Amino acid sequence: MTALAIIAAAVIVAWALAYYEAGTRLWTIYTAALLAAILYTCGAGQTGWIIAFAIFAVPAVVMNLKTLRSRILTAPIFKAFKAVLPPMTSTEREALEAGDVWWDAEMFRGRPQWNKLLEEHQAPEYTAEEQAFMNKEVNELCAMLDDWKISFEDKDLPPEVWQYMREKKFFAMLIAKEWGGLGFSAYAQSAVVTKISTRSLAAAVTVMVPNSLGPGELLMHYGTEEQKQHWLPGLADGTHIPCFALTGPEAGSDAGAIPDIGIVCEQEYEGKKTLGLKLNFSKRYITLSPVATCVGLAFKLYDPEGLLGDPEKVEYGITCALLPADHPGVDIGKRHFPAGFMNGTIYGEDVFIPIDWIIGGPAKAGGGWRMLVECLSAGRGISLPALSAAASKVAYRMTGAYSRLRRQFKMPIGLFEGIQEANGRIAGYTYKLEAMRALTASAVDVCSPSVVTAIAKYHMTEMMRSVTIDAVDVHGGRAVQQGPRNYLANTHNGVPIAITVEGANILTRNLMIFGQGAIRCHPYVFPEMEAAREDNLGEFDQLFWGHIGFSVNRAIRAFTYALTGSVFASAPVSGPTRKYYKQLTRMSSALAFTSDVTMGVLGGELKRMENLSARLGDILSELYMASAVLKYYYDNGETAEDLPHAQWCVEGSLYNIQKAFEEFFDNFPNRFVARFLKLVVMPLGRSYKRPSDKLNNQIAAMMMEPTALRDRLTNEAYFGTDKDDVTGRMEVAFNELISIEPVYNRFLKAVAKGQAQGLAIAEQLKSAVENKVLTQEEADQIAEFDTLRIDALATDEFTQEYLAGKPIDSIAGQKIA
Ligand SMILES: Cc1cc2nc3c(=O)[nH]c(=O)nc-3n(C[C@H](O)[C@H](O)[C@H](O)COP(=O)(O)OP(=O)(O)OC[C@H]3O[C@@H](n4cnc5c(N)ncnc54)[C@H](O)[C@@H]3O)c2cc1C
Repeated sequence: MTALAIIAAAVIVAWALAYYEAGTRLWTIYTAALLAAILYTCGAGQTGWIIAFAIFAVPAVVMNLKTLRSRILTAPIFKAFKAVLPPMTSTEREALEAGDVWWDAEMFRGRPQWNKLLEEHQAPEYTAEEQAFMNKEVNELCAMLDDWKISFEDKDLPPEVWQYMREKKFFAMLIAKEWGGLGFSAYAQSAVVTKISTRSLAAAVTVMVPNSLGPGELLMHYGTEEQKQHWLPGLADGTHIPCFALTGPEAGSDAGAIPDIGIVCEQEYEGKKTLGLKLNFSKRYITLSPVATCVGLAFKLYDPEGLLGDPEKVEYGITCALLPADHPGVDIGKRHFPAGFMNGTIYGEDVFIPIDWIIGGPAKAGGGWRMLVECLSAGRGISLPALSAAASKVAYRMTGAYSRLRRQFKMPIGLFEGIQEANGRIAGYTYKLEAMRALTASAVDVCSPSVVTAIAKYHMTEMMRSVTIDAVDVHGGRAVQQGPRNYLANTHNGVPIAITVEGANILTRNLMIFGQGAIRCHPYVFPEMEAAREDNLGEFDQLFWGHIGFSVNRAIRAFTYALTGSVFASAPVSGPTRKYYKQLTRMSSALAFTSDVTMGVLGGELKRMENLSARLGDILSELYMASAVLKYYYDNGETAEDLPHAQWCVEGSLYNIQKAFEEFFDNFPNRFVARFLKLVVMPLGRSYKRPSDKLNNQIAAMMMEPTALRDRLTNEAYFGTDKDDVTGRMEVAFNELISIEPVYNRFLKAVAKGQAQGLAIAEQLKSAVENKVLTQEEADQIAEFDTLRIDALATDEFTQEYLAGKPIDSIAGQKIA
């Protein structure tokens, strides 16, 4: 009995020590007490006590005396660690060091402090000036945009739109006020881009580019005072249109491998012998290049003659410079045609530029990669998330309306369960996208989070793809037939653009999210690598043993939560979402533990095993996305309309996490380790289910109702109010249906019962009035609504000449649309 009691007490205390991440001293005291209890229970004699404690003292002293521990235990581990550490190029290192970690680190480290997210990170808001700009300038711009004309007829924005954008400083949202820009927050920039995107992809991309990775941002962060004075006022007032050229035919995703070069040399320039660069480059896919007046250029810098002052250094690495588009030797080539916006090539042969044109001056020679990664980190959290949220807002509002207006088999199609399956996804993803847009953009306002923005870029554009496809499926031919009535086709065609730019999605999922997350978010891995690089055994010793304690702690936590339904996990709220916080904490601990074991077992091999690292990245991403949803739900008053949406999103995330873990364990190469991991993380098997059909159908049904949530979710979007507008005609018909639906349904019932006879609707209405089913006023209302309904469901028709691209003047007078 005593032995059993000692074992039970020993297990409980050990569990508590591991659960609360006790240090070496406490573990030593625990082991000494346990040994004493065992010796006492066994009735050991004095000699037994002396021998046992003498043996115990050896590891106890070694573990507690840092110098001894370093020399005896840590040194061989340090040697082995340095031997397996994959070599890191300076480019990789700069990419890893660039940007900040944020909430991603909390989720990665396995013990999220939820209050940091809910309370410390304020709910984002617009300033009065930003709100006024959204209400006036952005609305005016949206009203000027005819996406069909832009994308099909003109393949360009109208001159008055270009002029309006320049005048109203749409290209200068990120440029500080002191330089004449608008100086908007990332959250406000995101809202502006979102609203424009709901109207025209081409216009949105045109605004996005100068406000994300490009000359404006690079100058603001790294430009010399002289460069700022030279360029920023012109960029702010629209005199200059910028583009940024990194990609070329040989280097897309692997941008660090660009073959474009700049050789430091001296040459006659404006009548003076000048230190500068001779550039040779070939770039493609460059947005705005056909209209750009200044070109941000990335190239590799070489200084074979040591003219920069260091005769030993020839290769400087990626460098960025800013040059006028009409500079001698720069050849802005022809246009590509991805959609209606400007995109093209740029070439340069033996282009000489003064050394001062390097962004940040000669001191920043070779600093280009870091600049690009840092700026990309921020930009990725604004533009593509905005584009994705915009696509979902249009899909949500228009598909909800269409599902109620369009009847087949005598029912609104939105009442069929098959349609509800698709509409539920649209509704859930729209909620998730808006939550992520708000959280990610507001994160960019407080730091430059690199992992969070990679998560947002990948998952938001993938959700955009899903939502757009679902919306097109629900609309059927109405969304297939292209033309000025179709509000979905251009977004659908534009999805691959969002998927490809700013880090193509396959690469982002497989290489970036977990790769960067593991190294940047982990409290020990990067510092351990740094200690190895600096050959600092003392530092490594401290980190290594801390790391062991960390891993054990996360394993114990994950296992305990799994066995107990996460009752011990903390949650910052009460109510229906409390359980979700607890489950996310459990999965966060499980990720921390699994990542540690995986990195320990696979080491540098993991970089090549993209399928495995992608799944760990998916888990980290789902944790972030579910956090964003809970934050959005919390910030918006935890309303009854929000709740089923939040539930759908978080339950979906937990299910996806479970699936990713299962597939990860199934494919982990070391089967013994895989079983051990599975035992710790999922000892009782599966815990989560997909959102139920009932929940899915509930949010799908809400999409067809004029709820307050519908208005909030589509707030940063522009919808026409005129019945001849692309989205306005659906809005007007839907609003009319809502106001007369009881009467309309009475009429349809009368038709079915034979109380409103006739083949055409006019005859049926007349008959319904005669049979006293409807008053004349009601019949008139229905007739009016029916005209709107038919128009809202109609698609475009064109003449052959128009589609063949004949000049519109030559077919004037003919019906084209
Ligand atoms: C419309 C448009 C606008 C653009 N605007 C600009 C601009 O203004 N300035 C600019 O410099 N660039 C611009 N780009 C270029 C853009 O950044 C690149 O297209 C992008 O980096 C991908 O390069 P790529 O198209 O050559 O594809 P590739 O690099 O050839 O990639 C092909 C596929 O391989 C995948 N892949 C590559 N490496 C890996 C890996 N290690 N693991 C897994 N998968 C991998 C990619 O994910 C992708 O699916 C633009 C592109 C487009 C389409």
